[in-house]
Parts: sequence; C-alpha cells; structure tokens
Amino acid sequence: MFFTKSIVCLLGAALAGNAFWAQPSWSENAPSPASAHTGFDILVLGARGGVQDGNLSAYMINPHGDHRAILCDAGTVVNGLNEANHLGKLTDFSKSNQTALTPAGYVLHHVIQGYLISHAHLDHIAGLAISAPDDTPKPLYGLQSTLDDLSQYVFNWHIWPNFADHGNVPFLKTYTYQPLIPTHSQPLQNTAMSVTAWPLSHSLVTSTAFLIKSGSDALLYLGDTGPDPVEKTHRLQTLWRAVASDVQKHQLKAIIMEASYDNSRPDNVLFGHLTPHWVLKSLHDLAQETGDATSLQGLTVVISHIKYTLNTGAKIQETIKRQLETENDLGVNFVIAEQGLRLHVH
Ligand SMILES: [Zn+2]
Ligand SMILES: [Zn+2]
Repeated sequence: MFFTKSIVCLLGAALAGNAFWAQPSWSENAPSPASAHTGFDILVLGARGGVQDGNLSAYMINPHGDHRAILCDAGTVVNGLNEANHLGKLTDFSKSNQTALTPAGYVLHHVIQGYLISHAHLDHIAGLAISAPDDTPKPLYGLQSTLDDLSQYVFNWHIWPNFADHGNVPFLKTYTYQPLIPTHSQPLQNTAMSVTAWPLSHSLVTSTAFLIKSGSDALLYLGDTGPDPVEKTHRLQTLWRAVASDVQKHQLKAIIMEASYDNSRPDNVLFGHLTPHWVLKSLHDLAQETGDATSLQGLTVVISHIKYTLNTGAKIQETIKRQLETENDLGVNFVIAEQGLRLHVH
C-alpha cells in the first residue's frame, strides 16, 4: 500500500533546531513525477490561538506552482510575512517591477488575493484590521454571521475605520464582503481555487470550515471548533460526511485543524475548542464516514491554534504532539504549525 495521497514536503526547515514538529511520516513514498506539481503550498503566518500577539492564526494557501493565494484567517498578517521572510520563505514570490515594496509588502499586495475568515474573534482578524490601511482591495469571504460581526463591531468607525463596503458610512471599500452560503461551492476571485463553507460550533459563536479546491485537489481548513458531544451539535459529523468522498478518492491533501489545549483540559472549560484526544476522536468519525478504517493513513493534519503559555518550562507543542501520537492509530501525519512553516502537501 502506498501512502501517496498526502505526502508532505517541508519547503525548507522553518525553524532550525525546532524539529519536533517537522518530521513527515512516510516520506520514503516519494510522489510520482505526474503529481509533483499538484497539491497546495501552505505558509503559516501565525500559528497560535493566543496570547502571543504577532503570531495568531493565519494560513496562506495556494495551489502548488500558482502563487495566487488566499489567507485562511488573518490573526497576524504583516508580522507573519516579515517572520517568513526572515526565514527565507518568501524568496520564490517574485517581486520584479515592484522594487518599492518590501517582500512582505509584495506578498500582501500581489500574492494574497483575499481572506477567508472563520469567525470574528480577535485572534483571527487582528492582522486583517491592522494591515487594512496599507492593503490593496480584496474580497473578504465568510458566513453572513461572520461578516455581520465584522461590519457591526470592527469596521464601524468606532473600533476601526470602515475599510469594507457595508455598515457605517462612509465606506473605504478596501474589502468587499463576500457572503458564503453553507455547502455551496464558490470561486475565489483571482485565484485557481474555489471554496465551500460549513458552519462549526465554537461555544457562543458560529465558526467555519473551508473546503478549498483546486482542480481535483482539496484542502480543508477548520476554524475554532469544539467537539460535537461537548457542543451538543452534529456540525463536525456533517462536515466529515461531506468531505468523506474527497478522502476516499485521495483528493484531500491536508486538514488544518485546532488543538488549543492538551488533554489535561476538562471538557467543561474547553470553551469551544479541541484537545488531542478530541482531535483523534473526531478524525475517527471521519474515517468511519469513509467506510475504511485505513482511509486516513498518511493524511497530513496540521495542528493549529495551540494556546501560547506564559509559564516557564512549559513546552505545550511537544505535549500536544506527544498526546496526538499516543492515540494515533489512524496513521495520520500530524504536523504542529509554527510561524514561518511552509509545506507542500500533495
Ligand atoms: Zn481563536
Ligand atoms: Zn475563536
């Protein structure tokens, strides 16, 4: 059996010396030449779920070989681009004829073609708001409830100028709200990708999962979410049912999903988040939907939104990685997101 459906290539080591996240499983199963230019590139601009400002959820996604990208959440934007640049991760984004722009400025203006916002919590939008004065016009995609929150509470001339095209006048129109209808595929403007949204349950807030497609390739990004049994919903189950066929056909190249806390966190204080145990439980639900207990073998699952800790000596990423691997009887290739990490999943 060849685990070729989700081989992950590290496009250079993101954080030299921090190797705990980085070793892909089954790397000996090299992709065939025919698949060498497929799949997606993922660049992590911000990895954490708080409290480290400057490193909050933001994942730049583009089809491999096509630099027109989308940003999934925007907790950190310019700082994440600068950090990625310092790590040498922006070098292949050509900035010919754009000599006035820094590498970060070039990527912000010419590579990122729009934003997919899972929900309007600050750790997912702070970078968007702060970079807005120097951003170029872009579509801003989200469920209507998310766009309403942005319009009412953020881009309202009280918290911040209205850089969008609805809400309190005047409109600066840097951003065009693009409501996503759940389960309906919609093209992402100026890219070779499309997106389908599913609502997720995140305590008192509706969050969103985005299924991004490019040709037959798919990548699934989940915003913050709690487990179905704790949230008392079936939203994750509904999502897994919807993407099961993409898994079965080996078209789903990666899942980006959260594990905010380690397993010591009691369910009654999850506040709409997952732990490693709940990640595995939920991925088992996905495997069950595919009808094949081995269907997730080799699938890359990037773990996002680990809560930063101010406690000295705490190595929360290592703890979460260890707890994920302890229960990993699915053969999933877990990768812990770190700022500046760049992956090619195919
Ligand atoms: Zn969050
Ligand atoms: Zn949140």
